[in-house]
Amino acid sequence: MAALYFHIPFCKRVCGYCDFYRTTKLRLIDAVVEQMHRELEQESDFLHDRKVATIYFGGGTPSLLPPAEIERFIDHVRQLYDVVSDAEITIEVNPDDITDEYVAALQKSSVNRISMGVQSLDDDCLRLMGRRHTAEQAIEAVERLKRGGYHNISLDLIFGIDGFGGDSLQRSVEGIAALDVAHISAYHLTIEEGSRFGRLVASGAMKQIADDRSEEEFLLVHRLLTANGYEHYEVSNYAKPNMRSRHNSSYWLDIEYLGIGAGAHSYNGDVRRWCEQPIEEYISKITYDIEPQDNTVRLNECIMVGLRRAEGISLRDIAHRFGDDAARRIEKLSSSFIEQGVLVERVSDDDHRIAIPAEKFLVSDLVISTLFVI
Ligand code: SF4
Repeated sequence: MAALYFHIPFCKRVCGYCDFYRTTKLRLIDAVVEQMHRELEQESDFLHDRKVATIYFGGGTPSLLPPAEIERFIDHVRQLYDVVSDAEITIEVNPDDITDEYVAALQKSSVNRISMGVQSLDDDCLRLMGRRHTAEQAIEAVERLKRGGYHNISLDLIFGIDGFGGDSLQRSVEGIAALDVAHISAYHLTIEEGSRFGRLVASGAMKQIADDRSEEEFLLVHRLLTANGYEHYEVSNYAKPNMRSRHNSSYWLDIEYLGIGAGAHSYNGDVRRWCEQPIEEYISKITYDIEPQDNTVRLNECIMVGLRRAEGISLRDIAHRFGDDAARRIEKLSSSFIEQGVLVERVSDDDHRIAIPAEKFLVSDLVISTLFVI
């Protein structure tokens, strides 16, 4: 099975924390969409596997495109690949794009999963982030989507913002959990140099929160979401039973994916590649940065993504894919972390797994880099 990703890089305005590939040059939408169709056609052989199980429209702001344009991409994928009948097809949306008309039009498309960037239910925090919506608009958007027939909804939340921990964060998490959606992604704010927040931190006008506060906030989010019936299955992802994101899981399970659009990444087992050109360049000629995949790169990727998952890594799988020596090396290097409680071991008759317990996820970088093969 393979996955398709479409990067729609357009945003009406730029959020304060954003360092994603995006542009506010909305006049280029039509030209970019047509070039994306050409790219899909030209690059369809990148995937070895012709069966597509998930399609994801991310951004940017895919909800700036009319649903009919989204469906045109899905139709094009169907012409080139065998899209399975129960494929998960997700679109990222912004709350202020969700009108009754938009939901009705989207219902006529094949999109069956919605991912919405709520980020906070504190209006002061939303204003600081430069989001286009209010808390009330976000809640109304969820209700509108449910009324329109969408029940597989994922909401994004951001924590770790100075001045918006404690009660503000607790109210946001409880409010989002009360919306009773299928899936919640909770990300710690990262201050990126190129973002408005990066410049505010550099000038001293904004503070980055201390590590112990980060941990407290992560644990608060974790406690509230798990108490509300969400299973923590990856460092930033929580799902109701059987509602994990199949598309995101493909990134963690070594499944091939083809990314279309400037800002998209692709992987087919042999190479990992991405397109980071300025948008005007993308329209005239597409070029990729390419990272060939050898066993060392694959093993390190497997350690990194595996340890971000609650299930952790399977030493049996690693022995199978990379040889007994690789599994023995990880087992040996893990022992001191297991003694310190930073890693836990789960040994059964047919498997031996190593995982990071939830309360230690925020110190996972050190563990992961120690286990890396250099
Ligand atoms: S909507 Fe998303 S991609 Fe666009 S500026 Fe905000 S965070 Fe960045």
